[in-house]
Amino acid sequence: MKYPNLFAPLDLGQVTLPNRILMGSMHTGLEDKARDFDKLAAYFAERARGGVGLMVTGGISPSIEGWLKPFGGRLTMPWHKPRHRKLTDAVHVEGGRICMQILHAGRYGYHPLSVAPSRIKSPITPFTPRALSTRGVERTIDDFVHCAKLARDAGYDGVEVMGSEGYLINEFIAARTNQRSDAWGGDAVRRMRFPIEIVRRTREAVGRDFIIIYRLSMLDLVEGGQDWGEIVALAKAIEVAGASIINTGIGWHEARIPTIVTSVPRAGFAWVTGKLKGEVMIPLVATNRINMPDVAERILAAGEADMVSMARPLLADPAWANKAKAGRSERINTCIACNQACLDHVFQNKRASCLVNPRACHETELKIEPARARKRIAVVGAGPAGMACASALGERGHQVTLIDRADEIGGQFNYAKQIPGKEEFHETLRYFRHQLANMGVDVRLGQTADLTSLRNGGYDEVVIATGITPRQVKFPGSDDARVLGYLDVLARHQAVGAKVAIIGAGGIGFDVAEYLVEAAPSPTIDVTRWTREWGVDMALERRSGLQPARPEVPARQVWLLQRSEGRLGARLNKTTGWVHRATLKAKRVTMLDKVSYEHFDDQGLHVTVDGKPQILPVDNVVLCAGQEPNRRLADELIAAGLTVHVIGGADVAAELDAKRAINQGTRLASTI
Ligand code: FAD
Ligand code: NAP
Ligand code: SF4
Repeated sequence: MKYPNLFAPLDLGQVTLPNRILMGSMHTGLEDKARDFDKLAAYFAERARGGVGLMVTGGISPSIEGWLKPFGGRLTMPWHKPRHRKLTDAVHVEGGRICMQILHAGRYGYHPLSVAPSRIKSPITPFTPRALSTRGVERTIDDFVHCAKLARDAGYDGVEVMGSEGYLINEFIAARTNQRSDAWGGDAVRRMRFPIEIVRRTREAVGRDFIIIYRLSMLDLVEGGQDWGEIVALAKAIEVAGASIINTGIGWHEARIPTIVTSVPRAGFAWVTGKLKGEVMIPLVATNRINMPDVAERILAAGEADMVSMARPLLADPAWANKAKAGRSERINTCIACNQACLDHVFQNKRASCLVNPRACHETELKIEPARARKRIAVVGAGPAGMACASALGERGHQVTLIDRADEIGGQFNYAKQIPGKEEFHETLRYFRHQLANMGVDVRLGQTADLTSLRNGGYDEVVIATGITPRQVKFPGSDDARVLGYLDVLARHQAVGAKVAIIGAGGIGFDVAEYLVEAAPSPTIDVTRWTREWGVDMALERRSGLQPARPEVPARQVWLLQRSEGRLGARLNKTTGWVHRATLKAKRVTMLDKVSYEHFDDQGLHVTVDGKPQILPVDNVVLCAGQEPNRRLADELIAAGLTVHVIGGADVAAELDAKRAINQGTRLASTI
């Protein structure tokens, strides 16, 4: 057994779990409508089959006021139970266990009926909440208890009471949001009565044989949160009140310190849970950026927690636990913490999925089933689109040849993986390397495919996934050797001077800026440095765990430029763009909009900014001005009458990302 701690059973009293893996709560967008519960049942069943010890649903509200958004998922009436029964039955048939998360959104509710301890608007929602009356507080506690009883009747093995991340319970606990003068506000002891009463009365109502997980905010990361002494006191009281497990919550949603994005170090907050060990007897769960078995095993072996929670990693690979148990962690499709298809979707009211696993939350619709007739298929280009397509074609039983002119698979992921904070992209390449081999795909590297070789290859069908070419920008002096493309920097590793202007502020412009300002090694691989740079107090001596951020001196002076008007990075991904902007701000990168590029010479880059001429005294310019489809081969093949499918950047380069490339490749493969 490679991971003895991870696969040690855990006796909760109510039930013995087969391992220490908790699938953490993750809103998928399928919780909100009764008609989606069959899809949700298939999603959970697949993960139960994959061997996870205990799962938690996305947040379900105990009342209309507690909705996350209008008509969000709630369990308040007896007739809501049958839809939940579909989930619990599906999980139990597979031998799994599932708890329902009770989530009252409080002032984070995105609707006009939201309530909170006090009438204080959150910085991330447009609605001002109504302050609960004293009777309203009692009614809300009853709502939690009633919801838990309905959950038990619907067949759940337990509930998770969501007490962190800045939702209602957390709002009661923190002085920041609780300015009440009745019995539910005032000093820390009175502010924490609300969660204690919820857990105590829930335990009374549901009996001893039902799991109650309490998600405890162990690090608020916002001004006016709890101090460590208060957190320990609350944990002890929650244990006495009857919780079976304490799960960790890190940071309110309005916190300006990243907690789960890919640039957060792996297990970057497990030390917080570790500090609580020994203070309570019930099992503690560590969370945040735990994505591989060795990371999980290390936390458990170090005694920092009794269980590990992973939400997104089980979106990425439903069979995560079984693969780890079999000692085949190299086969795990690792969550790269990009948020692009999960949280970004949820925040845009779209169904969640996963960049590296487009089947996530689409289990009933996107199936990789054996092909009716085995075909010989060539896939040209081993970037994300080609790798995903070839491995799914192989899985279906086709005879697949994957050709790339480069010496390694991965396409642009080989550039992305070099960006500080994008180290996880290595894992996707490792996964596909194994997956392609396991699916019997014949991978031919260092070969440029052309019309002749493809015509002579005897293929039934050809998939073109040849990606993109970087867009060229022409201005006087742009042919100077000091004007570089992003591939000169990331692929050819040409020397770059101390002062650099970057033309283009899209995803690649931001990434190249981070690459140029950061001195190796990346802070993402060093928890102590990362917490220092972002202002997290590892000693937990300061309230909320906040201390002044101390970013390291930038390795270069960088100007990031765009022609259009508006904030730079406005089009970056919804839940991660702010982290990139904050990183570059901390590194004192100058961001300019409304820029015209005039010429480059020995003085630097001559520009006009909002109509005013300026010289940026730079040693180099790096062009990150977008991409165009590399379709030449596709067009030649089509003209020659071959059956051709075009995917990824070769199809459409505008707004291309790996999510679209992998999704398109997988979906095509499911139909051939
Ligand atoms: P590509 O990855 O471009 O692959 C095309 C492949 O085709 C290449 O390997 C090439 O060698 C091969 N090829 C071309 N012509 C031939 C031929 N004739 N014969 C044989 N082989 C050929 N996306 C995200 O979603 N999230 C991110 O965080 C992210 N970060 C990025 C950071 C950087 C620095 C860069 C450069 C890109 C990033 N991207 C990111 C974009 C993402 O990598 C691309 O959208 C994705 O790689 C496109 O996949 P693709 O398969 O269409 O093409
Ligand atoms: P992009 O996002 O389209 O950005 C291109 C930038 O170049 C823009 O700032 C654009 O703004 C500028 N530009 C366009 N044409 C220009 C021209 N002719 N002259 C000067 N400037 C020009 O493209 P990208 O940064 O190359 O990224 C490529 C794809 O990879 C994107 O679709 C992106 O989603 C994906 N990607 C994603 C991530 C991620 O973290 N999710 C990271 C990297 C890449 P102006 O026109 O205003 O100057
Ligand atoms: Fe992980 Fe990205 Fe998939 Fe979300 S979309 S589960 S963050 S790999």
